[in-house]
Amino acid sequence: MTNTKGNVIVVSRFRPLNRLELSKDGTVCVETSKDQKSVTLHMPNENKDFSFDHVFPLSSKQPEVYNVCAQEILDGVFNGINGTILAYGQTSSGKTHTMMGPDNSTEKTTGIIPRLAHSIFERVASMNSEFDSTIRVSFVEIYQERIRDLIDNKRTNLDIRESKEKGIYIDGVSERLCEDYPGFMKWLKIGEGNRKTASTGMNERSSRSHSVLMIRLEQKSFATESIKTSRLYLVDLAGSEKVRQTGAEGRQLEEAKKINWSLSALGNVINSLTDGKSTHIPYRDSKLTRILQETFGGNSRTVLIVCASGSSTNAQETLSTLRFGERAK
Ligand code: ADP
Ligand code: MG
Repeated sequence: MTNTKGNVIVVSRFRPLNRLELSKDGTVCVETSKDQKSVTLHMPNENKDFSFDHVFPLSSKQPEVYNVCAQEILDGVFNGINGTILAYGQTSSGKTHTMMGPDNSTEKTTGIIPRLAHSIFERVASMNSEFDSTIRVSFVEIYQERIRDLIDNKRTNLDIRESKEKGIYIDGVSERLCEDYPGFMKWLKIGEGNRKTASTGMNERSSRSHSVLMIRLEQKSFATESIKTSRLYLVDLAGSEKVRQTGAEGRQLEEAKKINWSLSALGNVINSLTDGKSTHIPYRDSKLTRILQETFGGNSRTVLIVCASGSSTNAQETLSTLRFGERAK
């Protein structure tokens, strides 16, 4: 897929209606164009059109999403180009389904992250007479502007630092060497487990935090001894739903403010990257954008996947999700 502006691609994905939506008499409220580049959202009183680099209809399957969103990112990573894939959308819109796949996923249903990892190890193996490659993984959660290590959960409230040699990095974050795909999946499962544990009884913390998986690929050429390093950031963002002003108070309201703040900081950064005229990119406005600065802009590729329900009962949230995606183009 070719880039529209800068190195940022924006796609939208709609999920099928769930039981709750059907029980509320929800109907399909989105219509995808034949070329899969635009979508019409049917609202009670009007229709709204949005265009994207690609639109995945309700019927889209995981391999198709992977091919469109991740192939070029993968190629880039092996050419020293950093990559970022972000999933944005309200809670239950399909972000985790898209990035990870369902619980107990199979080869058919698994999401972008396991597919990408699998391809990385496959490619590394096919190049092992030319390159000595190492793959390292880190996994963090950003909750209320605090960074927590998901691999070693004793490491909380980590700081972001910058140095000439390391660039921008999370100080003290654990990095695990992965020998193969099962080795990678082991760390991924541990991280997911730690994320779930923390969310129990805590107001669905996992939907109010960003999870950031970082993969670092280092390839040393046997012939020239030169080293090529690239990074891949895979982000499952906090739910973008607007917390109703009424009823939300205390902790809930504080959480909502911080989420809205960091998601709009992300939107602002992407806008500045794509509008072609900004000289200042406001990375410092949030922990998330500060971390992503390492892979955004410059020699990099970014794919933003905006996820939404296809149900009329969620049309209002879908409208704001699609607006966010459209502004990011
Ligand atoms: P989020 O991470 O945005 O909160 P999830 O990915 O957990 O949302 O999705 C919510 C539910 O909807 C899950 O049960 C998931 O399996 C299901 N789901 C999401 N997207 C799809 C899809 N494209 N096809 C089928 N089921 C989906
Ligand atoms: Mg989720």
